[in-house]
Amino acid sequence: MKRIYLDHAATTPTHPEVARAMLPYLGDVFGNPSAIYCYGQEARSALEQARAQVAGLIGARSEEIIFTSGGTEADNLALIGVAYAHKNRGNHIITTAIEHHAIIETAKFLEKRGFEVTYLGVDGQGLVDPDDVRRAITDRTILISVMQANNEIGTIQPLAEIGGIAREAGICFHSDAVQAVGHIPVDVAELGVDLLSMSAHKFYGPKGVGALYLRKGTRLEALMYGGGQERNRRSGTENTPGIIGLGRAVELARQEMAQEAGQLTRLRDRLIQDTLQRISHSRLNGHPKKRLPNNVNISFDFVEGESLVLNLDLKGICASTGSACSSSSLEPSHVLLALGLPRPQAHGSLRFTLGKWTTEPDIDRVLEVLPPIVARLRAMSPLLKNRS
Ligand SMILES: *Cc1c(COP(=O)(O)O)cnc(C)c1O
Repeated sequence: MKRIYLDHAATTPTHPEVARAMLPYLGDVFGNPSAIYCYGQEARSALEQARAQVAGLIGARSEEIIFTSGGTEADNLALIGVAYAHKNRGNHIITTAIEHHAIIETAKFLEKRGFEVTYLGVDGQGLVDPDDVRRAITDRTILISVMQANNEIGTIQPLAEIGGIAREAGICFHSDAVQAVGHIPVDVAELGVDLLSMSAHKFYGPKGVGALYLRKGTRLEALMYGGGQERNRRSGTENTPGIIGLGRAVELARQEMAQEAGQLTRLRDRLIQDTLQRISHSRLNGHPKKRLPNNVNISFDFVEGESLVLNLDLKGICASTGSACSSSSLEPSHVLLALGLPRPQAHGSLRFTLGKWTTEPDIDRVLEVLPPIVARLRAMSPLLKNRS
């Protein structure tokens, strides 16, 4: 059976050119980038080229890029690192109720350590109101963290406006841009961010590598101590193959992003419109326009998202109920609840995230397979029987 992968927000396939670019660094070019002889220097120069590539994609300078083990570490380093470096100034952090767990759980950790966190709500389409950010600021606020694009519903936040507010108040501004980098334009100057997280495996790079942008002059405490790599911000021998893969993924994104976004937006809108049309009692979650080009998130009344995912899997279609990290728990998504969805509807949601190699026939196949699955599940549903 042909497999159709529609869970690119969870992870993307590694681009063959990325894998090819990494191979020498898993083989002959094995030196420690800190070593001064030839093997080390070859690795170092490739590493610094990747750093320049990453910086170039987001309008940063090379020395503002810290390589990490991925998006989660970049988010932890940003929040904990800024919190501890600024704790003499205050203990208040502002974030949102719809962040990825890498932010939410880190914020909870900081709460246990004496920091206070405000989790801003969002409107019915998942947008943060910049005025809410302004109102939440106190003279103890040391950090604002708002994600650029949501991993579950795809909503893209008005970051530049929030960045302006943070700048005016002299407060550090971080964004988890893991879902945005490589997919939509990200420019640190335009967005007004001081820190920004990215992860390679969300845009056709390898897993286990990412980066944190840290604006020059922004104070940050390290999480890892040791050999002083990454300008003392992140000790540990660099993941050379991974970082080279990240650099290559960045280059490919530069070349392909605009064209890909156009193509995905067309496929996305077709999948949304036709699904809503063919299946009654279904509705789109997230913003219809301010939305990642590849994200489709739809709630179906009277069915469970898990049952939909399992039934689609039997047909070779890989989709998700929300974030991969929470799919093993029975709690409905915190993001959908923050939108104001009642629990049954939050439970009945399905996410398709399209990618570079998604085709029109893939979408046809979903539209052919999904309506009968929903109809069959509804026919058996106690949720439906108890309705009257
Ligand atoms: C995937 C993801 C992360 C975590 O990145 P990893 O590299 O998997 O650790 C963080 N934030 C968002 C929005 C994500 O989608």
